[in-house]
Parts: sequence; structure tokens; C-alpha cells
Amino acid sequence: MPYRDPFHLQDLDYLKFKHVRDRLLFIHLNPVCLKLLIEMANYTKSKGHVLTVTSTVSSLSEDKRLGRVSDTHLTRRAFDIRTRDMSERVLDSLVEEFSTKYSSIGAKNLKGDSRLIVNESTHLHVQLDRLFSEQPISETLWNWATKQLNNRRNSGKILRN
Ligand SMILES: [Zn+2]
Repeated sequence: MPYRDPFHLQDLDYLKFKHVRDRLLFIHLNPVCLKLLIEMANYTKSKGHVLTVTSTVSSLSEDKRLGRVSDTHLTRRAFDIRTRDMSERVLDSLVEEFSTKYSSIGAKNLKGDSRLIVNESTHLHVQLDRLFSEQPISETLWNWATKQLNNRRNSGKILRN
């Protein structure tokens, strides 16, 4: 096991997570991807909004379960941000600021066009180029983090040692 079980990390004041699993796993994002996430969080926080991350790294079993076609989460170079709690003004400025600043390192489509941020209906999918791919995390780590999630669901709070 990578950490003691059960395990608790304090909440962050500049970033919220939909799932405890991602609070535990987001540090396994590619370093550039992680830096981008923190930079985005700082950007929106300066505008009075704390980002909620809804997804970070994935596992092969999870991608199969979700029927994901893209491997950007699996290869640790993507994360998702909730949009429904964000004002249109903050959302637009975030997309504009980062799409411009980091346009060259966004994931490329088959035609070779780079796209850093994809605005899905419920979230922003932020994705880096394949160049930033990392080996997927182990299923053991994924299962461990998922178990922490279940512990919290079952008990209504995070268990502490
Ligand atoms: Zn995504």
C-alpha cells in the first residue's frame, strides 16, 4: 500500500475536489499538468472563485468502465474542472487566458490542431499534448484511493488514524 490505510489529507483552500480519490491522486499528474492546474486555481481564486476538480488521473479499468476514448486522463496529462458553480465572466476569462497562454502545449487532434481546453457540457476538460504523457498509475494505487472514497461514503466523514 502506498500510504497508511485509512489515510487523511487536509482540504486545500485554493482547490476543491468532487472525489476524495482525486484529492489523493492529483499529485500524480504530469508535473507540467499539475503546475497548470495550480496556476488555474490561483487565477480563479484571485477572481473570488475556488476551483472544483471533478477528475484527474485515471486507470485502465476506470477508462474501460466509463467507455473513454481518449487516454489523456490515463496518461496523466488531463484534468476536469466543474463549470456550473462558476460565473460566466470567470469562466470566459479563464478559458481565454489559458487557451492563449498555453495554446502550443494543448493536446492535438488528428489534423494536428492543438487544443488545451475543451468546454464539455458540465466541465472544462484541460489536456496537454502527448509529449507530456506519463505511465498510467498502478491499479493498486487507484484501488487504494477508491477505497478511501468508499470509506468516506460509508462513514459520512474521512476516517482518521
Ligand atoms: Zn476530462
